[in-house]
Amino acid sequence: MTCFRSNSYKVVICGAGPAGLMAAYQLGKLTGGDGQILLLDKKEPWKEPIFCAEAVSTHRLNELWPIDESWVRGSLSGIYFTSPKGYKAEFYSKDCGRLLDRSKFHHAIADACVESGVECRFDALVKSIEKTENGWNLNVQVGKEFFSLSADAFIDASGPGCRLTRGIPCLEGIESGDTDLEPGIFAVAEGIEHDRDHIDLLYGSEFPGGYGWIFPRDGKEVNVGFVLSKDAKPDMPLREKLKHFIATHYPNAKVKAIYGGMIACGQSDKPLAKCGLFKAGDAASCVNPLSRSGIVEALLSGKIVAEAVHEWLNASDDAARSRIEASVLDRWMAKLGKSHLQIARAKPGLAKIKDEQFDKAAKRLSKLPREKQTLLRIFWAVLWSCPSVIWKMRSFLH
Ligand SMILES: Cc1cc2nc3c(=O)[nH]c(=O)nc-3n(C[C@H](O)[C@H](O)[C@H](O)COP(=O)(O)OP(=O)(O)OC[C@H]3O[C@@H](n4cnc5c(N)ncnc54)[C@H](O)[C@@H]3O)c2cc1C
Repeated sequence: MTCFRSNSYKVVICGAGPAGLMAAYQLGKLTGGDGQILLLDKKEPWKEPIFCAEAVSTHRLNELWPIDESWVRGSLSGIYFTSPKGYKAEFYSKDCGRLLDRSKFHHAIADACVESGVECRFDALVKSIEKTENGWNLNVQVGKEFFSLSADAFIDASGPGCRLTRGIPCLEGIESGDTDLEPGIFAVAEGIEHDRDHIDLLYGSEFPGGYGWIFPRDGKEVNVGFVLSKDAKPDMPLREKLKHFIATHYPNAKVKAIYGGMIACGQSDKPLAKCGLFKAGDAASCVNPLSRSGIVEALLSGKIVAEAVHEWLNASDDAARSRIEASVLDRWMAKLGKSHLQIARAKPGLAKIKDEQFDKAAKRLSKLPREKQTLLRIFWAVLWSCPSVIWKMRSFLH
């Protein structure tokens, strides 16, 4: 029979993506572990495929989790911004990014969780949760067996659009992890010529409200895909659209596999914690609304939540606990949420830029020497090619 070490924990974390792994590790460190912290996932966090293009900023990742080259696929030194006609602006910065092997990365953090005293179960599906007088009750399925576990505090790090916290009266109004839920899809392919140390972001009406990408992967492989606005109405199913895009632009490409997922890329100002339940990562809609990056954001959000939960566990009374819960949104806002909120407000304006305006901006930028193509200049060049957007983006600019 499958057993948990206990049926009662101080904290249970659901979801062992970057947010849940980081939250568990930090709580293990802060509390001394001791069988008080349980991390659950329905699958092993290193189980492939992981639906992600796996690019992160080097310095932002390093601030949260020191980089170990054993879980890195490669280094990045720049980004091409490509317009519909193929003009390329280039942002160059040596070693600015890393391409992770997320499967190995997750494994490394999970090992650190175990070392810090966290009990990890990567075969456990949280079927439902229920508020009780003293905390949370969880209905957990492992194989064909069902378990009832209790926790003083519960962390929902179960990724985008999770239903776990829906319909629970005391959680009404909490962030639901589906703010601006956008579809993303990509293929792992060979036969596409691409700089091994650059990522390529493709803009224009082919990707309404979003962008396409080509990221290097292992050896000759690339990750080629796109994200679209949630309101986009593509003329064919996404899988067909991706195949059509690849066949049209890269006729020699050999597609090895296609994967897709949802990205919660809008920022809300809804609470991130209530009644001893805390939200982290995509479940808290922490993804950057424009770049759609969410790995570092999930790590940061997991860390913020772990610190708050640790204070919450040591709080003297309910009033203090409520103040700590309310502070989680403020802590996130102070770090990234405020800028995400501004970006989210500006996003509809950017989605209105026309193909010829992207072409004009990228053509002009491509004539500048590489060292003058800063991210700020690229941003302004796109805006100036489309003056009406500047008005629409006023919330972003002040
Ligand atoms: C196509 C695509 C490409 C992307 N590319 C990038 C990129 O290049 N760079 C970047 O920074 N971000 C990228 N992202 C975003 C990034 O993948 C996410 O933001 C990040 O994974 C969020 O981490 P998380 O821990 O919040 O959630 P997740 O990584 O989604 O982890 C959630 C975990 O919860 C588990 N779970 C869910 N429900 C239950 C349950 N009921 N019981 C038990 N376990 C459960 C799942 O199995 C999963 O392991 C991309 C996303 C997509 C879809």
